[in-house]
Amino acid sequence: MLSAIRDLIYPPRCLSCPEETDAAGALCATCWRDVEFITGPTCKLCGTPVDAGGAPEYMRCDECEAHPRDWSAGRSAVMYSGAGKTVVLQLKHGDRLDIAPTLANWIVRSAPDLIAGADMIAPVPLHWSRLFKRRYNQSAELVRAMSRDKAVPDLLRRTKRTQSLDGATRTERAAILDGAIALHPAKDVTGRTVLLVDDVLTTGATLGACARALRDAGAADVTICVLARVVRGRQTPIS
Ligand SMILES: [Zn+2]
Ligand SMILES: [Zn+2]
Repeated sequence: MLSAIRDLIYPPRCLSCPEETDAAGALCATCWRDVEFITGPTCKLCGTPVDAGGAPEYMRCDECEAHPRDWSAGRSAVMYSGAGKTVVLQLKHGDRLDIAPTLANWIVRSAPDLIAGADMIAPVPLHWSRLFKRRYNQSAELVRAMSRDKAVPDLLRRTKRTQSLDGATRTERAAILDGAIALHPAKDVTGRTVLLVDDVLTTGATLGACARALRDAGAADVTICVLARVVRGRQTPIS
């Protein structure tokens, strides 16, 4: 009743543009068509679409082929482009915590096997100072909405504040992240399979640092899933 009244006064709007929609947390038809949901054959490690051929177990994109990963399997829900990119930015910088459940659902649909195979689901952590400024960790909010019985939003911690990775090369990113992420002292991952969640996968440097921290702490296996995959040279500008 209250939500019906609220919807009359403030009709729900598209997650990506000012268009009115029937329900909250939805995209309008135009933006929906603009989201590149990833389907078909994908890289086993990062979820990037690849040309079919060979067993799925051995499919790799060029980037994962050139740079071995610290995790064993991965999935991406959408390409970081168009309306898919807009909603990621809304979640990260637009204070749109309300859209986290919808976006978490996109991840859940893209990685049901990885979620089923995980003992724990954990986000890539933010340093406390950045958390203080931004007020929430978008990846932790995705995890909270994904699988309540496996979600461990504080499994990992940033032990030092690192500079932004934007514009840094692969080697520079690794140096910046060296020793920056560790298991929460009160948590135990011995012999467990941990599924790491992040909003965006660019080079995978941060996810790699998290995966190494988990393996160093005794995790049996680490897998990853992200909302959006950035593939260089393929991004389209926000319209
Ligand atoms: Zn729209
Ligand atoms: Zn890949």
